[in-house]
Amino acid sequence: MSADNATAEAEVRQALTAWLGAVVGDWRHLKTYRIVHALPEQPPPAPDPTVCSAREKPGVFVCGEYGSVPGMQWALLSGRQTAEQVLKERAAHR
Ligand SMILES: Cc1cc2nc3c(=O)[nH]c(=O)nc-3n(C[C@H](O)[C@H](O)[C@H](O)COP(=O)(O)OP(=O)(O)OC[C@H]3O[C@@H](n4cnc5c(N)ncnc54)[C@H](O)[C@@H]3O)c2cc1C
Repeated sequence: MSADNATAEAEVRQALTAWLGAVVGDWRHLKTYRIVHALPEQPPPAPDPTVCSAREKPGVFVCGEYGSVPGMQWALLSGRQTAEQVLKERAAHR
């Protein structure tokens, strides 16, 4: 994290300009928030996010980064795995 807000703003503008172009120069800075401990510690070992952990107990399913690793792609994969697990168990009980 940059030492001061002016440097942080300049770094963010530089990155956004590389992505979005000169239009970023027209944007007005409103406020800088410094969020300490925004992310939890994630020490290894991490669970394998490709292994489905959807079924908590009979009739109860969970999804999301709970039981997986942090990141939207893993939360979305977990959601798909859970939906597939629900459909599979429903089909088995018909
Ligand atoms: C600061 C920060 C930056 C991040 N940056 C990135 C990034 O750049 N790229 C990336 O891929 N991932 C990033 N992540 C991680 C990503 O946000 C998460 O992995 C993802 O949102 C997890 O999705 P989820 O659906 O499992 O959980 P969440 O998005 O946390 O959703 C859980 C929901 O459940 C609700 N909830 C909790 N308890 C209850 C309850 N008892 N009853 C009802 N509702 C409840 C919460 O309010 C929340 O809306 C970041 C996370 C943080 C905190």
